[in-house]
Amino acid sequence: MSTVLPVAQRGEDILRLKAARVADAEFNSDWLMQLASAMLVTMLERSGVGIAAPQVYISKRVIIVASRPNLRYPDAPEMDAVVMVNPEILEFSQATTLGEEGCLSVPNERGQVQRAQSIKVLYHTLTGEVMESTFEGFPARIVQHEIDHLNGILFVDRLSA
Ligand code: ZN
Repeated sequence: MSTVLPVAQRGEDILRLKAARVADAEFNSDWLMQLASAMLVTMLERSGVGIAAPQVYISKRVIIVASRPNLRYPDAPEMDAVVMVNPEILEFSQATTLGEEGCLSVPNERGQVQRAQSIKVLYHTLTGEVMESTFEGFPARIVQHEIDHLNGILFVDRLSA
């Protein structure tokens, strides 16, 4: 049974670190499974559509993406939560799109962020399987936002004037 974890807030150093890659030996480990499960529970409890490990004070390259329709993105697809380990964006579309973002680590603040419309991502599953997926629109925005967290970047750093 996973417990809800505290979420790091803007201003805390953990959110500015470049997170470490998950090592081969960590795939399929109890600790990695428990981390993902606790991140998922924490994200759902806060009604988030994504979360990155540094937000729960673990400086590792693990993110969860879980698009669903909401007021700002009524056409967003409802998808099962995808856990991505060591995600890397292989391709960014030329086309970009401006859209509103918020963050569990930046409460009560939202802003317009320019992101690639679609991206191709390489990542590992929790068991170490290599996956390659293309995301478009809102899910692509979430992936880019969460990978930013792994590099110490918050959406407020990317706000358009
Ligand atoms: Zn965030």
